[in-house]
Amino acid sequence: MAKTAIITGGSRGIGRALSLKLGELGYNVVINYRSDSSKAKSHELAAEIEKEYHVETLVVKADVSKYEECEKLVAAAVERFGDQIDALVNNAGITNNCNWVDIKREAYEQVIATNLMSFLHMSHLVLPYMVNHSDKEHQCIICNTSSVGGMTGVINQADYCAAKAGVIGLTRALALELAPKGIRVNALAPGMIMTDMLRGVNQDELKALAATIPQGYIGDVSDIAGAMEYIFTAPYLTGQVISPNGGFVLQ
Ligand code: NAP
Repeated sequence: MAKTAIITGGSRGIGRALSLKLGELGYNVVINYRSDSSKAKSHELAAEIEKEYHVETLVVKADVSKYEECEKLVAAAVERFGDQIDALVNNAGITNNCNWVDIKREAYEQVIATNLMSFLHMSHLVLPYMVNHSDKEHQCIICNTSSVGGMTGVINQADYCAAKAGVIGLTRALALELAPKGIRVNALAPGMIMTDMLRGVNQDELKALAATIPQGYIGDVSDIAGAMEYIFTAPYLTGQVISPNGGFVLQ
């Protein structure tokens, strides 16, 4: 029987590459998106995954910053693929770029709700569908997208860094709690990766950013998909933060 994976924020950027990788790894993929503008993209991606990897997909619109919408997402996955979920990839994320004096409360609350609370909600809601069939031979997997921002700190992104550091804490604590049940929990902590998240940055700024990276260039979504494949295929790996970042956090 094919395995089932849910990915939040799976339609574009890093999430798109991770959704494709889940299909390649043989999972039926539940692709979550939030914005109306991503609806068509999500369905095109789902069709691509089905054609390429001969697995099944389900596209679900849900704002995962809200608990009730996470419930809706998990219920849709269970209705479609049954009550055994094998993998959860918490990937949805947003940033603000604002100093802490001027930032509005609603803005930083939304960053925490999207980048941290959704990870708590989704793992809480999905775990009952993992513990019923996970063991040493059949490991279930939770993979959380953190960031180098959660390991170091980034100017004007206090909310984002707080959320992403929280994701690392969640990853380690859940890994300890769930290891005896055969569920592995790990985090990805990407460095700078070329996605819409860097859309507002002009060419000169991008060059300057690249110059701060020891390897000298901004990473590609495939770098993160490759790291996720390692997480999924390494049975003795849990509670770890894998950080493809071009050497960024070594300085
Ligand atoms: P992106 O291109 O802006 O994509 C963000 C994704 O998150 C989109 O699929 C978006 O869905 C989804 N999303 C946002 N809010 C959501 C919500 N409330 N409910 C459901 N989905 C939501 O960003 P990205 O660069 O691929 O980032 C993906 C992850 O990697 C994030 O967690 C980010 O923090 C992390 N990361 C990125 C970088 C980087 O340099 N790019 C570095 C470190 C970490 P819609 O399309 O529907 O809006």
